[in-house]
Amino acid sequence: MADMTCVACGSPETRFSFVKKTRAGSYEIRHCRRCRSAYVWPRPPEAEMERYYRDDAYARRSDESSGAGDDAYHPTGMADARRMVGRCRRLTPGTEFLDIGAGFGEFSRAAREFGFHVEACEPNPNARRAFRDRNGFEPDASMFDAHYASRRVGRFDVIFLSHVLEHTTDPAAFIALLPAVLRTAGLVAVAVPHFGSALSRLQGRNDVFISPPEHLNFFSRSGLIRLFERHGFCLEGLATVSKVPRGKYEQRIRIPLVRTAAWRGLYAGLSFWNLFGRGMVINAYFRKGPDRA
Ligand SMILES: [Zn+2]
Repeated sequence: MADMTCVACGSPETRFSFVKKTRAGSYEIRHCRRCRSAYVWPRPPEAEMERYYRDDAYARRSDESSGAGDDAYHPTGMADARRMVGRCRRLTPGTEFLDIGAGFGEFSRAAREFGFHVEACEPNPNARRAFRDRNGFEPDASMFDAHYASRRVGRFDVIFLSHVLEHTTDPAAFIALLPAVLRTAGLVAVAVPHFGSALSRLQGRNDVFISPPEHLNFFSRSGLIRLFERHGFCLEGLATVSKVPRGKYEQRIRIPLVRTAAWRGLYAGLSFWNLFGRGMVINAYFRKGPDRA
C-alpha cells in the first residue's frame, strides 16, 4: 500500500480522524468520506505483524476471549459457524473449502459436517494445537500470501475469511490473490466487525473493535462490498449479526437474577439493530465474477 487511499473502497477522499492509544502504542486512525470505513495509517510494518501473530501470547489472548460454553452467542462459536457454512453449502455444489486464519477451527469443523473437504491455514502455534485437539488434523502453518496462493491455483470452491480482513496490512492486495485460488464461480465468505453498527456508533472512539495493532481495518458495509467488487467479485448476500461473549459480560454482574435479565436485555437490544443492518458483525458472501481466471 503506497499511499493513504481508503483500504476498502480505494477513494482518495480520506482524512485523519483521531489517535487511538492501546497497550501496544499510539495509532492514527483515518476515515473515508466516501464509504465511511476507517483504518490505521501509517500501517505497522509487515514483519512486525507476522511476529505478532506467531507469538504464543496472541493465541492465549484469543483463547481467553473465545466463547467456550456460550456457543450460541459467540461470533466464532459453532452455532455461527454452522449458520455461515450452511449458507455456503446452499450457494455452491462444490466441495473444496479453504479456511484462512482458521483459529481454533470452528468453521473447518462445520465445513466438514456439511460435507466439504477442508484445508486450513493458521500461522499461530497455540491456535494450531487447539485446532488439532478439536478437529483431529493440523492446519498448514503458513500465512496466506502470494507464495501460498501460487501453489493452489484453481483449487477451491469456497474460501472462508472469518475475522481475518480486519487484521490484514493490505486488504486489497490480499483480496487480489483470491480469484486465482478459486474455481469458476467460487465463493468467498467473510465475517468482519461492523464499523457502522449501532454499538460502534454508540461507542465512538472507544469501539472495542478498534484495537490496533491487532485490528487495522474497520469496514462499513459499502466499503466491504466495494473492496470485493474492485477485484471482480459479485455480492451474493449480506447480513449483520450481533454477538457478545456471554460469560465475559456476565462476570461483571454479581447478582444472578439481575445478571440474566441484563444479559437478555442487552442481547435483545443488540439483535434489534440486526433488522436495520446495524448489527455488530458483517457476514457477506461474494462470488468470483465470470471474467476472472
Ligand atoms: Zn472508502
